[in-house]
Amino acid sequence: MASRKKPAKPLRCPTCGALVRLRDEDFPFCSDHCRQIDLGKWATGVYKISSPVLDPEVLEDLGGSGTPRGGGSHES
Ligand SMILES: [Zn+2]
Repeated sequence: MASRKKPAKPLRCPTCGALVRLRDEDFPFCSDHCRQIDLGKWATGVYKISSPVLDPEVLEDLGGSGTPRGGGSHES
């Protein structure tokens, strides 16, 4: 029975915390303004994604040059 839903309860805008109605056009946000703000948070990385994002710069730093840093192994 996955259709078991909780009874209607006050929903709040994730951005500003204002009460939002299910019928609101901008649900779950109270307004388009708050929607944009929330999207901006995602874009700027305020919200962490479960899996780490590998930046190209980081990848280069890890081994882009092919030469390991702080070499623990001897060179031939
Ligand atoms: Zn809001």
